Amino acid sequence: MSVQDPIIPKRAPEHVSMSQFAQRDGELVIGGERLSVLAERVGQTPFYAYDRQLLKDRVASLRQALPAGIELHYAMKANPMPAVVALMAGLVDGIDVASAGELKVALDAGAVPHDISFAGPGKREQELRQAVASRVLINVESMREVHLLGRISEQIGLPARVAVRVNPDFELKGSGMKMGGGPKQFGVDVEQLPELLAELPRRGLVFEGFHLFAGSQNLRPEAICEAQQKSFDLALRLAALAPSPVRFLNLGGGFGIPYFPGEQRLDLQSIGENLAALQARARQEMPEAKLVIELGRYFVGEAGVYVTRILDRKISRGQVFLVTDGGLNHHLSASGNFGQVIRKNYPVTIGNRLSQSEREVASVVGPLCTPLDLLADRMELPLAREGDFAVVFQSGAYGASASPQAFLGHAPVVEVLV
Ligand SMILES: *Cc1c(COP(=O)(O)O)cnc(C)c1O
Repeated sequence: MSVQDPIIPKRAPEHVSMSQFAQRDGELVIGGERLSVLAERVGQTPFYAYDRQLLKDRVASLRQALPAGIELHYAMKANPMPAVVALMAGLVDGIDVASAGELKVALDAGAVPHDISFAGPGKREQELRQAVASRVLINVESMREVHLLGRISEQIGLPARVAVRVNPDFELKGSGMKMGGGPKQFGVDVEQLPELLAELPRRGLVFEGFHLFAGSQNLRPEAICEAQQKSFDLALRLAALAPSPVRFLNLGGGFGIPYFPGEQRLDLQSIGENLAALQARARQEMPEAKLVIELGRYFVGEAGVYVTRILDRKISRGQVFLVTDGGLNHHLSASGNFGQVIRKNYPVTIGNRLSQSEREVASVVGPLCTPLDLLADRMELPLAREGDFAVVFQSGAYGASASPQAFLGHAPVVEVLV
């Protein structure tokens, strides 16, 4: 800092605007319905609501921003609600599953088996049998899986379709969660690949391509471009060792959404340009390969809200606590206990008092007997009363299915797609 720099008072960073949702009569509108009416329709709080139109718009705008021909896969662990998976199956080009349980939901939802891929460490023999019988693409993550699949293919009389998940020698910089680079339980180390690739034809497996996934929840376009570039280069080198041409190249995803104050929505411009360049190279250097990116939260996260009702408004030594009927038991991520290092607030509002000018600083807490059960820590909110709705935005991903619902024995949360 030089001496001339003016002293600008620092404003606290704010959450990005939750403008994806409309308002009517001071109430949040979800799926075209006012929150209070939606709550009547659902019949209880707490609940999650996912907005169908926002999900459709999201896929459409992503297709708009990326070059034609890039295939979009939905990683359904982000939100495995069957109705959401069924909707997504009709919008995207494939579904990525991570267990036989998810595979069942995807198949029930009408996803085309050929376009389902199954990744994840520690696949059980039973899960691999189900995957082979379903004719989905299996992303193998170890030599054990190769051996098992060889035996299963022979027994069932169907050769397994496999892609090899690679643990790359780099990672996605600045990611919320790193899932590649260094020692990892995911994928096969690049160093071990020559041996594993050579084994595939010996075991009668059909090689289709590679899967690289370097990390998650990233808001830096240049880091995402770099990871996709490096993934492509690595796949090209590995293709030389493969038993047959690469037909499927999953470059990962990692597109983040803004959760915390100061974060901005991801700018897709440079990512689209970078993918167009990679696609042009693929036409020359890997002509049979279709390029795939796989995304979870980017598709569904911003389309969902978690809605609770305020049961009690307490003041403790001057601090306001709004005690709601749901918390970390339904929404571990928003409480800050699902992968956050330093707890920060998700965007929260009082969903039936959006046009109220009177505001106050309050903490929104759940009903569990633990100080970890915190949905908003001293946030400025519309002045709330008992019976109002405390709403957590950015809740369409890693919500209900990623939360310890049995903890403290409250009723399970309800999910609706509207
Ligand atoms: C979890 C996961 C995803 C989805 O991550 P998001 O951050 O939700 O986009 C994609 N691919 C793989 C392999 C995953 O494990």
